[in-house]
Amino acid sequence: MKPALTEASSGIPRQVRTTLPVIEASGLGKTYGNPGAGFEALRDISFRIEEGQFACLVGPSGCGKSTLLQLLSGLMGSTTGEIVVAGEHLTGPSPDKIAVIFQDATLLPWKTALQNVEYPLEIKRIDRKERRERAEHYLRMVGLADFMNRLPHELSGGMRQRVSIARGLAQEPKLLLMDEPYGALDEQTRTKMGDELLRIWEETRLTILLITHSLTEALYLSDVVYAMAARPGRIIERVDINLPRPRNIDVIGSTEFGVLRNRLWHLLTDQGTDGGSGHL
Ligand code: ADP
Repeated sequence: MKPALTEASSGIPRQVRTTLPVIEASGLGKTYGNPGAGFEALRDISFRIEEGQFACLVGPSGCGKSTLLQLLSGLMGSTTGEIVVAGEHLTGPSPDKIAVIFQDATLLPWKTALQNVEYPLEIKRIDRKERRERAEHYLRMVGLADFMNRLPHELSGGMRQRVSIARGLAQEPKLLLMDEPYGALDEQTRTKMGDELLRIWEETRLTILLITHSLTEALYLSDVVYAMAARPGRIIERVDINLPRPRNIDVIGSTEFGVLRNRLWHLLTDQGTDGGSGHL
């Protein structure tokens, strides 16, 4: 089934809007096991995200979000289709172009916050002075100026995730790919972190693709939301989110937000494909 895509405006202010796609997926499919006899996890996934856009992929558990993340991060090959990042085919992990933020902060426990942010830059052989400057800059941006020399176990869960975001930002990628980055945090910290992410995005104008099962998070943050359904995992609709920016928490109580949330909720639940386990 072909997804029904709408072509309305992206919601990005006109002066920064561009048609250059940072990432473009075409006809992506993934079958686990033997082709023909395996499990079809994804079918015909196509989307493009333009420079400076904040995009979300949202869908219930089991619709293939993790599978798609692995394809987009180059950690796993697709069965069909292709991914082009900044004009080049993706053939494997490409940390220069795509930085991935996982649900768990995955920090090296024996390194300080600063050393954790510097580490990938060291691997890329960026010289000591520049990597120190970059690491400090992005740790300040995520609000950790006073915690740079702490070890991960001396930081809260939210702070550890901020270090991981600073580490992604410091790589100055074309695309920041985030997989349920706040899924492991409590509701209050999660909302606060969403606000911080908006501020950082407004400051850097990075292109971000966030994968989440939370409708509220998707609507609050994004310019565009791709709704997914399961069995097989596929995109069922693209929804442009034209809520005014800059946004703050009050927008969640607005009528427009409610209308969009209802629309997405019906789109996702009417599929009846969450196997009873998907929570939105
Ligand atoms: P989500 O992240 O949205 O919960 P996943 O990508 O983890 O979804 O899984 C999508 C579907 O693919 C599920 O039905 C899951 O059971 C199946 N799946 C995931 N990984 C594998 C695998 N390695 N082998 C076989 N099936 C898998």
